[in-house]
Amino acid sequence: MTQQEVFDLAYKALSGITDDWNAAYYEDLSGELKLQWIEQPIFQAQAYSAYTLGGTPSHAIGISYNLLWQLYLDIKHYFEYLESGKDDKAFKYWWGEEKHIDSLLTLTTREQAIQNIYMAAVTWVYFHELGHLSQEHGVIRNGNSSRCNSTLVECDIQNSKEMNGETSIVWHVTEIAADYFATSTCVAELIRHFNTKNDLLLATNYLMTGLAVVLHRFNGQNLFEEQSIPSGTHPKPFVRLELMIPVIFEMLSEPDSDDRKKLVIASGRAANTVSLYWIRAHTEFGGIPDNYFIQGMLSRPGVIPYMKHIVRKWDEIIPQIISLKRFGESWQELKFSQNFRETLKNS
Ligand SMILES: [Zn+2]
Repeated sequence: MTQQEVFDLAYKALSGITDDWNAAYYEDLSGELKLQWIEQPIFQAQAYSAYTLGGTPSHAIGISYNLLWQLYLDIKHYFEYLESGKDDKAFKYWWGEEKHIDSLLTLTTREQAIQNIYMAAVTWVYFHELGHLSQEHGVIRNGNSSRCNSTLVECDIQNSKEMNGETSIVWHVTEIAADYFATSTCVAELIRHFNTKNDLLLATNYLMTGLAVVLHRFNGQNLFEEQSIPSGTHPKPFVRLELMIPVIFEMLSEPDSDDRKKLVIASGRAANTVSLYWIRAHTEFGGIPDNYFIQGMLSRPGVIPYMKHIVRKWDEIIPQIISLKRFGESWQELKFSQNFRETLKNS
């Protein structure tokens, strides 16, 4: 695909989603959601809100052309890596005979599969920004006020070095809440669009692969650094990935069912083949670094104390979120199960 075709694909899909959300929610509230394209050569997505107490929602989602092109190239190069067979032995050892590349191509051509993963990735980024807007995270971050203009920016490196304490915890938990909104909304869209189990499993495979590519791109060339107290603006991308993968399979299957088993295997395969690709293509680690692969969230070093801060802060701000929220469903709101809370308490 040419660069223009890659942009057009995203433009068509995201403009359609923006029109749908305007028709379903914003118009009733006399508000507006705009979609904006960022031309500066940076990997960027952002959410803009002009909030006034009792006013109408005035929102915009901005996505850079650079982000679109970069994600498309990442997915295309990932396919070339899978096709090269470089790590086939390792894949076979971990996941048996069925190759991830074959599972992605069961019902479609190579080009179509790349486009589907690209669209899943871009849509997830879009819904992440919409999650920030739906729950007015800018108002929460700036302290509850009657008037607040905010632009929430992903990948804000400069900021990330200086922030810590309770401020940082608020930023992290609202990032996780936006991830939850994005992931649950993407899964709901899949359920709406696909009638057969095979189609749904394939589409879920695209989503899990696309999500892994986005979060590896956010992680860049970094090793995993343990973080037991939130600092900076954003959670570690691998922690975000580990938190969101279970959201996908918990929405789509019952505990201990065959479907759950299939989805758990497929998600591990999607995420870890992307990790292996990333190590080969973008790093010079000279081997597999510690804690690079997804491994079940709570076994990652530092995550238990980290999540205690996140759950505490979420419980503290959820009443505010609910009072600020003007649209969106309760299933799109971040939640932690009783089991999960017990595990944290006893750890
Ligand atoms: Zn965000």
